Amino acid sequence: AAKEAGRATYRFFTPELNRRASDRMWTENNLRRALANNELELHFQPQFSLDGRRLVGAEALVRWRQPDGTLIMPGQFIPIAEDTGLILPLGDWVLGEACRRAADLLRHRDLLIAINLSAVQVRRPGLAERVAGWLSAYGIPPSALELEVTESVLMDESDVVTETFSQLREMGVSLAIDDFGTGYSSLAYLKRFRVDKLKIDRSFVSGLRAGNPDSSAIAEAIIGMARSLRMQTLAEGVETEEQYGCLVAMGCDQCQGYLLGRPMPYDEFLAFVRRDGRPAENRVAEAVE
Ligand code: C2E
Ligand code: MG
Ligand code: MG
Ligand code: MG
Repeated sequence: AAKEAGRATYRFFTPELNRRASDRMWTENNLRRALANNELELHFQPQFSLDGRRLVGAEALVRWRQPDGTLIMPGQFIPIAEDTGLILPLGDWVLGEACRRAADLLRHRDLLIAINLSAVQVRRPGLAERVAGWLSAYGIPPSALELEVTESVLMDESDVVTETFSQLREMGVSLAIDDFGTGYSSLAYLKRFRVDKLKIDRSFVSGLRAGNPDSSAIAEAIIGMARSLRMQTLAEGVETEEQYGCLVAMGCDQCQGYLLGRPMPYDEFLAFVRRDGRPAENRVAEAVE
């Protein structure tokens, strides 16, 4: 429906809509070139265990580096890539690049590398084979990889989706549900595939306040349900120690967010891993000032 609304806007010619349409056209035309010219890069955001604050993994997040150095964020081009079908070659590049980086990271530390998948990629036959191909190309164990999909993918009852998830499961790749709680899925869908982890959406984390049970009702419900279905939970968008403390108290398993680390270019993330997940010295100095 959102896609249709997007198309319908072309019929109206207000300056604002006209600008949006031409931004879109610019992105479409240039994204193809970006892929061919290697202008995409993956940044890595650390993920920590809540008990002990140990670095346990990282989520790979794609960015588009313009020839002039400017960085374009995924929100500005992933939806367009999905509409135009470019998400298939783009998504395959992300898989390959994430595996290449994972191979290097795993020489330093045991980490779980999480990759975002679009629904379009999952609905297309052959995803499990592509993943298997990249894993073996870089010599990575399937257990080092986690794939993130949103709730809408769970509701897709097509044979392709069912088959793909069962193949991935058999290979030993884990599955996480991204932005959990924001979609319209019925909880019954969680039993269709074996889901390993629920990522609690940032919108349920940002309002957490110590000593305020109302603020934590939804996060708490998700954690309780995950526990009884034997799934892990990871809280997204943790920005403050107060939020962190609330999540520890609720028994959430893991977290990621600006409090413990922003998405970083690969070299910076590698240095972060080598420091055992601690911020750089100059950053510490700044914080003390
Ligand atoms: P997501 O998978 O839910 O990723 C989390 C987003 O939240 C990232 O935005 C991350 O930078 C941001 N974030 C992390 N911690 C915090 C925090 O503490 N506070 C706040 N305010 N934000 C935080 P980003 O990198 O702009 O990515 C946006 C979305 O684009 C992702 O949401 C994901 O849905 C999509 N995306 C990113 N990379 C890929 C990719 O390789 N393939 C596909 N299909 N989608 C991708
Ligand atoms: Mg994600
Ligand atoms: Mg998310
Ligand atoms: Mg999100």
